[in-house]
Amino acid sequence: MASVPKPNELLKSINHTPPETWWMDKPVEFRPGTFCNASRPQYLEAVGFPFAREWRVTDDDWKLPPNWKEIYINGIKERLERFRTFKVFMDICVRCGACADKCHFFIGSGDPKNMPVLRAELLRSIYRRYFTTSGKLLGRKAGARDLTEEAFKELWYYFFQCTECRRCSLFCPYGIDTAEITIIGRELLNLLGCNIDWIMGPVSNCYRTGNHLGIQPHAFRDMIEFFCDEIEGVTGVRPEPSFNRKGAEILFVTPSGDVFADPGTYTCMGYLMLFHELGLDYTWSTYASEGGNFGFFTSHEMAKRLHYKIYAEAERLGVKYIIGGECGHMWRLIHQYLSTWWAPPKNLEVPVSPITGTRFEHAKSTKMIHIVEFTADLIKHGKLKLDPSRNDNLVVTFHDSCNVARGMGMFEEPRYVIKNVCNNFYEMPPETTREQTFCCGSGSGLNTDEYMEMRMRGGLPRANAVKYVNEKHGVNMLACICAIDRAVLTPLMNYWVPGVQVTGVHELVGNALIMTGEQERTTNLRGEPLPGMEEETDEDL
Ligand code: SF4
Ligand code: SF4
Repeated sequence: MASVPKPNELLKSINHTPPETWWMDKPVEFRPGTFCNASRPQYLEAVGFPFAREWRVTDDDWKLPPNWKEIYINGIKERLERFRTFKVFMDICVRCGACADKCHFFIGSGDPKNMPVLRAELLRSIYRRYFTTSGKLLGRKAGARDLTEEAFKELWYYFFQCTECRRCSLFCPYGIDTAEITIIGRELLNLLGCNIDWIMGPVSNCYRTGNHLGIQPHAFRDMIEFFCDEIEGVTGVRPEPSFNRKGAEILFVTPSGDVFADPGTYTCMGYLMLFHELGLDYTWSTYASEGGNFGFFTSHEMAKRLHYKIYAEAERLGVKYIIGGECGHMWRLIHQYLSTWWAPPKNLEVPVSPITGTRFEHAKSTKMIHIVEFTADLIKHGKLKLDPSRNDNLVVTFHDSCNVARGMGMFEEPRYVIKNVCNNFYEMPPETTREQTFCCGSGSGLNTDEYMEMRMRGGLPRANAVKYVNEKHGVNMLACICAIDRAVLTPLMNYWVPGVQVTGVHELVGNALIMTGEQERTTNLRGEPLPGMEEETDEDL
């Protein structure tokens, strides 16, 4: 792993002065810490992707096939015909620059090619050269350039420096969504076997075992049972979840990060406690054991293939609907794409809460609801006994995960839940939350160690807003509803705002939930003493 500069050194290195060199004349520089490793061939082979081979990003020769240009240009042509948005986005940018300073990677790196307008221009210039008359005739004067190996490498570098967060699209007067351009840009790279290891590994795992981490069914079950042991230790109440149970009313699917990576594991304990207390007729699946979908970071087709295991399992088990855990891109896919991919199996119905009777009409087409809306509805109807003082050691703020916020429009539900389970909550500045939220800097499959410098740069605007509420209000806990966020905000906070921890919303719910028959609690789900219980816990030790 490349060494990461110290925070002060990194801040000093950011220079937003426009360069004197025209962007087409500045070659791409592959500096360790700012790019991800190339995918290993076995991952591509596992899912039948083309041109599986050993190659390294820093090699001169990327071992592209002889007809690579033809494949790439044809790939653009197919997508121009298939995706109307792509065609429009290639043509209508007036280069007004309104999006230029809205990208966290530009803010944190100062690299002009990380301005959304210029990131898209990298591909537009190729489009112009091969698909527009002005570009064919006037070339560079019309903003067109040849597709060379150098240009191809540059496209690779900058499309893996975009987290597809869509923040820039909010500010574009023409509604251009650069994330959609990146999505197509990555599909084109994928046609030539040029994806990254951290994306293709999870994709191949998910295809084989049902989850990104490649966890086998028995290990998945063991982890959930372990959480039940832990919950019993804290509360005296042991949840008894079921697995692969036919005839359950609800299938619950969450990102595998909740099952295997702290602090997501505490969020998972919160789900188990809630469902147990409600007596919910639900089941886990050890096959559809992943809510996330890294396939989306390779191609629309792969995302579609990976998603179907959830519906196939819902059909096999005969459930009525699906509740999904705290995940980010899972929900963007469900809300923005799923209805155009698959019709839900016929056994699925419009979700109705068995506790409150609320019918979630907005989920009519997908039959999937987010656990935060399910829980917010429970609280609104007074169905949960809660003691928010158990979270009084926490001063909480909320990070809107890009995918659920901008991709789904879910802003109020998580805040409503948090305010009912915590007494101390402060918002970050409004230009950094809700629609305008800043990305964690590591989304869309870029949460890998070798990319750490770029992640710290990209996460700077988010960390800066956390630092503000940390200094002003003493915020010490950053809550979010995305498994990738839970994993990546932890190193980001350690780097920029040490002392601030990260949590999922249902960990806070689990702490506050008063369960029927529970013993007096002395610790929270992390095993830390509850406020006022410090001495008792010391004595226990
Ligand atoms: S989608 Fe996000 S990461 Fe990509 S260019 Fe826009 S603001 Fe930057
Ligand atoms: S705001 Fe829209 S039109 Fe203006 S430069 Fe950015 S993408 Fe182009």
